[in-house]
Order: sequence, then C-alpha cells, then structure tokens
Amino acid sequence: MIEPAYDTPELDVPARATGVVVVDLQQIRANWRSLSERVAPAECAAVVKADAYGLGAAHVIPALSAEGCRTFFVATSEEAADARRLAPGAIIYVLDGLLDAAWLASIDARPVLADIGEVLAWSRYCLNKGWRLPAALQLESGLNRRGMDEAAIARLIATPDVLGALELGLVMSHLACADDPDHPMNRAQRERFEASRARLPAAAASLAASDGLMLGRDYHFDLVRPGYAIYGGQAFRGGRAPVEPVMQAYARVLQVRDVPQGEPVGYAATWSSPGGRRIATIAAGYADGVFRHASGSGGKPGGMVAIGGRLCPIVGRVSMDLVTADVTDVPAAADMAWAELIGPHLTLEEVGAHAGSIGYEVLTRLGRRFHRIYMAGD
Ligand SMILES: *Cc1c(COP(=O)(O)O)cnc(C)c1O
Repeated sequence: MIEPAYDTPELDVPARATGVVVVDLQQIRANWRSLSERVAPAECAAVVKADAYGLGAAHVIPALSAEGCRTFFVATSEEAADARRLAPGAIIYVLDGLLDAAWLASIDARPVLADIGEVLAWSRYCLNKGWRLPAALQLESGLNRRGMDEAAIARLIATPDVLGALELGLVMSHLACADDPDHPMNRAQRERFEASRARLPAAAASLAASDGLMLGRDYHFDLVRPGYAIYGGQAFRGGRAPVEPVMQAYARVLQVRDVPQGEPVGYAATWSSPGGRRIATIAAGYADGVFRHASGSGGKPGGMVAIGGRLCPIVGRVSMDLVTADVTDVPAAADMAWAELIGPHLTLEEVGAHAGSIGYEVLTRLGRRFHRIYMAGD
C-alpha cells in the first residue's frame, strides 16, 4: 500500500489503484434525516435512479432503509428490480412509467403513469388479475415532459371504472425552475398541480424534489422526492440546503515533468507552455467522468484539480485516461501524490461549472475504474 499523500483521507487504497472514490454512507443517512426533519410531517422519499446518482445503489439503498426511508423512486424497471432486492419492504415508484405490467407487478413496483395508454394498460392488468395494484399518476404542470394534461385528466374522470380498477397511491408533478426561488413558474406549477389534483379522487400528493422542498411548506404536500440533496448537492440558488458533501474523488499523479517555453502538451497541441512550467499527468480522463469540455486549451480556461489543497488548472486536452495540470507552484505535486478531482477544495457545483455542466452530471458520469470505498461510520 502506498501512503495516501497530503490532504487525501487516510484510507486503505490498494497500491494498484489509479483513482479512488470515497462515499460516506453515514453522511448520506444524515442528509436524508436532515431533509426529513425539514419537511415533517410530510414524508421524505429518496430518488435513487441511475445507481443512486452514480454512488452505488447497492450501498445507498440499504443505508437509507436503515435510516428509516420507506419510499424510493427509480427511473427504469431494471433499477426497480435491484431496488426491490435491496429494500424488500419498501415502496418503489418507477418514474419512466409502464413498459411491462407483469414485470413490475412481479417485483411489487409501482409505475408512475403519465398518459391514458399507461393508465389503461395498468388498469386492464389489474382487472385481468383481480388485483387492485397501486400506481402513481404524473400530472402535467408546465415541464411538458411526461405528464397527463387537462384533456387526459378529463378523459380519466369520464371513465371512473378505469381509475377505479387500480389503487391511486400518489399524484405527482415535477417543477421546472425550483432552483430559482424567484421564478414565477414555481407558483404557476403549484397552482396548476393543485387544480388538477382536486379533480381526481383523493390521494397523497408530491411536487417537490431537492430544490422544490427548499421553496417552503406550500411545496411539500404529503411527500417530497429529493435525490441530489441527499448526495450532498447544493443546486438551490436561494440558500444552502441542510446537507453536507458525501463523496470525494481522487486520481494519482503518474508523472511530473518540466515543460519549457513553447512546448505543447496533449492531443492537438492546443496548449503550449508560456515558459518553464511543471506539468503533472494524472490518472483520470473522460472515461472516468472528467469532462473533455474541462480542457484548458486554445485560450479557454479549463477545470481544476487540487493537490496538497492547492488548485491547479487543467492544461491541454483531457484525454480518455489522463489529464494534465499545471502544478508549477505546488510543491506537493509529486509522482504518486493524489490529485483531488471532487472534494473539499472542489465542490460538485464548481466541477460542474468548469465543465459547462452541472454537479448532477458530474456525479452520474463518475467512471467504473475508480476504486470505491464506502464509509459506514459505525
Ligand atoms: C430525478 C427526479 C427527482 C429528483 O430530483 P433532484 O433534483 O435530484 O432532487 C424527483 N422527481 C422526478 C420526477 C425526477 O425525475
């Protein structure tokens, strides 16, 4: 084992590991607990789609279950099957809706139904089996993705037998602009949601995700559905969510070299040394989720890594397996040092902004090559 260098957490990282992602399950639990307390008496569910935003559903779902989370949202039917295995007693909603009724029923997952065809299919399946199976209804309120609009709701109301064949577990909708507390769409969507749900049979209601729950009580209804905030994300622009970071990512410095004035670095020679620079080659690239857009090339500033707590600009093109960073004034940069990609000096939001993206995409694109360490804290 090579001693972790400088400010890298003291962890048991195998000598062969080129990169490491550290996930703090205790903090994930604490974040969910804190959001729960914020929204009580509304229920706090957890969105664990996309492998718990790339952090590992196999670890995250049991941790949240142990903390008391009873309702999970996933995107796909396959994710629902995994979630069912990991949380045998939980309620599991499938956001992508109904592709295969028999499959969802076999794993006791609930589809989020978002058009008449889906409602009819689930309703028919229930009638055939003689079971009144639960589902959620997704109502359109302004996002114009998946959702039942007024005309579809009117058709449902006109055919009460269809809705009557299933159990309406939840009516929900999704906010488009909740990160901005001053955006007029927030209120407009809430009012449209309230009006639509009032036309339907009584059921629990849900409108808010991570940012929506920060908009206040009026947005909590019976259940909130945060994802990103549970994973330490701070996307809300109106204040800090009551959560802390849960993950860090590091990659090894493989080599440090002196690059004299005029010498290029990286593919397509898009960056040349302005004179006497020290350049570190680091073992993570776009295959690991370092965005190629974070290249510091052709006069455009790129992303950063941090070594010994000091920020170092990425210079030259990000390649598949490697990035190069200017470490001229960073004595801690030495062969086998750890370069922080995401962590105390580089938040998810900062890394997202450097890449012309958002922290959500940074998280969900973390590659499979990182050695992963899960801290349970107990
Ligand atoms: C992804 C998603 C969420 C969770 O959103 P966050 O911003 O990560 O909290 C909630 N509801 C729906 C419908 C989603 O697609």
